[in-house]
Amino acid sequence: MYRGTLIRSGGNAKTIKGDKAGEYETAIMYLAPAAQSGMGNVCPMAATAGCEMGCLSKAGRAAIFNSIVNARIAKTRRYFSNRAAFMAELVKDIEAFVRYCERKGVKPAVRLNGTSDIQWEVAHPCVRYIKPKHPQQEREAHYASIFHAFPEVQFYDYTKVYKRAYRSLPANYSLTLSYSEANFAYRDAVVKTAVETGANIAVVYRNKATRNNVMPSGDAFGNIETGFRLYREVIDGDETDMRFSDPRGVIVGLYAKGPAKRDTSGFVVG
Ligand code: SF4
Repeated sequence: MYRGTLIRSGGNAKTIKGDKAGEYETAIMYLAPAAQSGMGNVCPMAATAGCEMGCLSKAGRAAIFNSIVNARIAKTRRYFSNRAAFMAELVKDIEAFVRYCERKGVKPAVRLNGTSDIQWEVAHPCVRYIKPKHPQQEREAHYASIFHAFPEVQFYDYTKVYKRAYRSLPANYSLTLSYSEANFAYRDAVVKTAVETGANIAVVYRNKATRNNVMPSGDAFGNIETGFRLYREVIDGDETDMRFSDPRGVIVGLYAKGPAKRDTSGFVVG
């Protein structure tokens, strides 16, 4: 179990299941979702996609402990008040996690948007200090993104900012689109994006029966008028959280958790 100032491993049932396979250990960063920090919005599509009420950040331990919510708000405020300092803190944290994984003999995986939807690939440069054996050769290396700074780490996220799927993302960053029917314009746009880019799309189902009803031939998500409908195999996305190892071109079926079970916004299907 790794405990950093921003990221931590071993606190998520799904990543623990995946980590048990012994190849990867996964650390996640949890910020205060949407505009909960009071300083800015880390989920630009949350209102459109209707996901804030059922947001996973309100499930599990965060639903019970104010201290967890407060810690997430404090981290998010650091992000908004000084981006460069925040990125420096993140670099130090991931470096420590990489060392921890080396000692354990596992590969590091990091999910930065545990409860946020920040576009880390743009406008988030960072600096890493290269420390060769001779101290006088120590130097600063500047990187366009955290993904470029840590090629040894497998990063992944879910996103509702569907335009990100059209970008040329670094090879060590895997993005899964997130579906919602709360807003038909959003639904159609995300389905169109999945069809055009081949990106995987995660769908939150109310229960197992709902998910099984659309297997194995796949459901017809999307709007027939747009010409973009999604007929795909549904895989069990709750088995592990290692989205980077999913086959390409599938629907990642998840079950509703916490308050999301009662969601009627259209975020949860079925
Ligand atoms: S579900 Fe994702 S995008 Fe929506 S509020 Fe939560 S973290 Fe933000």
